[in-house]
Formats: sequence, structure tokens, C-alpha cells
Amino acid sequence: MEIRKIRCKICNFLKEGLILEHYNLKVCLNCFPDFFRKRVDETIKKFKMFTKLDKILIALSGGKDSMSLAKSLKDLGYSVKALHINMEIKDLSNETSLIVKNFCEKENLELKIVNLNDYFTTNLEELSKIAKKPICSVCGSIRRYIMNREAFSRVIVTGHTINDEVSFLLKNLIFWNDDLLCRINPILAEREGLSRKAKPLCLISEEETRSFCEILGIKYVDTPCPYKSKVYDVFKGITLKLNERFPGSLIGFYKGYLKRIRNFYPEKQDNSVLQKCKNCGYLTTAQVCSICRLKEKLLE
Ligand code: AMP
Ligand code: ZN
Repeated sequence: MEIRKIRCKICNFLKEGLILEHYNLKVCLNCFPDFFRKRVDETIKKFKMFTKLDKILIALSGGKDSMSLAKSLKDLGYSVKALHINMEIKDLSNETSLIVKNFCEKENLELKIVNLNDYFTTNLEELSKIAKKPICSVCGSIRRYIMNREAFSRVIVTGHTINDEVSFLLKNLIFWNDDLLCRINPILAEREGLSRKAKPLCLISEEETRSFCEILGIKYVDTPCPYKSKVYDVFKGITLKLNERFPGSLIGFYKGYLKRIRNFYPEKQDNSVLQKCKNCGYLTTAQVCSICRLKEKLLE
């Protein structure tokens, strides 16, 4: 977002600030961080994600989204602890882990770092070949698995933004993935052995998380992952263009979808029959979960 001389709607001073077109609001650089935190808090309350009595585990990737969320939750007084997963990606993961570590030290935020080799004896390339799936998809499954294992019934919070949510929604509409479309929700209820999951940035854009980090001098990793799915990039690009051309359209589209989802999928509540994996206890649709199957194949 461009920085301009504006009259701040919050403090009423003529200062350097941002024009937030989708809220039809001009805010100075001093007032923006507090405005951002309030938006996060309003989203948490609107969707009844959690309260100050709940224990939260934030999945901290080192990117601008989860960093701005971690800082906001801490400042708002939530009981939050961070989990960072080092996926051992060359030229990226170690540098990222260091940035996360420094941030948590500075913010006095409890942090646990888990490495891929705490769970597997090989790297992502090898795991992708064994699983016969793209690296990005294997990486996602492993990260979700590790998050659940490390949560110990804390609420898992991720930095998914409105851009992530709408990209996911558009992609699944274009390819009519009904099984995913019927479950879109910024909050996923806990189930036996699986923690509750929430996305408090679901109504906040990436432009805003970037501005938040830059104004507060929070160092974050901006290098894209070399394995990131190209398909996802296409839809992410569409959301960035939409937000620029039609401010507010992403929020309108996302909220509109949530309002209509039960009309589109009246019978499809999320009642998939899950059972405990007989090796590790993780909830799965099969007898053995996909991660344990991957480990078995690795041994073979
Ligand atoms: P992504 O799937 O990369 O778009 O990331 C979505 C969210 O997942 C981020 O905002 C983080 O909250 C979380 N996340 C992604 N990668 C990691 C990681 N390596 N360690 C911890 N959390 C992560
Ligand atoms: Zn102001």
C-alpha cells in the first residue's frame, strides 16, 4: 500500500498514512497497528473462535501473515505459544527458523521448533517420490499432521488471510471440488484427538499484514517457497487483482459464500466417518493414516 499524506480518521491529524479503500478509511501509520489488532479481535469474536481463557498455538511460518497475527494475539492478551516447523528446504528453512527465533525472543513468545527429521529420516523430495504426490501437497499434509501432534489440545491458529481463503474457494469452485467446498469455514471444531482450528486473519488482506509488519519493523521472510504449487499462484494472483480493482470484493465474496454454503450443500455437513489410526492415533478415514503409510513405505 502506498504511503501518502492523509487526514487520519482515527486521530484526526494530518500525517503520513494509508488509504484503506475497502473500509473507505484513511489511517495514519501510528494508528494503523491498533486498527489492525482491533480487526483481528473483532474477527475472533465474530466467529467465536476462542477466548482469552483458551490456550492458543500459533503456527508461525516466518511469513508476514503469521508474524503479524502472532504479534497481534500477544498484544491483545491471548494466551499464545508458537510452533514453527522447519521443513529442511535448502536455502530457505534455516534462515527462516532464525528469523522466527529472533522474533519470538524479542516478543517474549514461547516457541517450539520442530524439524522434519524429528518425524522422518529423509527429505521432502524423497517423500514426494515415495508418496507419488507433488512436494507442496506432501509438505502440507506433514505440516498439518505435526501441528495436530504438537497442539496438545490447544486451539491451532494459522495466518490464512482473505487472499488465501478466496484463492482456495475460487480454485475449488473452478474445479468443482464439492468435498472441499462444503467444508469452507474460518473455524473447524475440535474432534476427538484433533484440535480446534481457527483463522483470525480470514477477513484481512495480505497488503494489510505487510503494512503491519513494515510499520512495526517486524522482520519476515518474503522468499517464496521453491515448491509452492503453480496452480495456487494463479488464484492468488486473481485475488490480488480483484482486491485492487474492486476494493472490498474479496470480503464480500467470502462472507457471501459462508452465508449461502448451507443452501449449496444442505445435506453435506462435515460428518465424514473418522477413526483413530491404529499406529499413531491420528484421526483418519482409513485404518492407518497417510503419514504412517508414508513412514511404512519409507521403511520398505
Ligand atoms: P501456507 O500453507 O504456506 O499458505 O501457510 C498458511 C499458514 O500455515 C501460515 O500462515 C502459518 O500459520 C502456517 N504455516 C505454514 N508453514 C508453516 C511452518 N513451516 N511452520 C509453522 N506454521 C506454518
Ligand atoms: Zn491517526
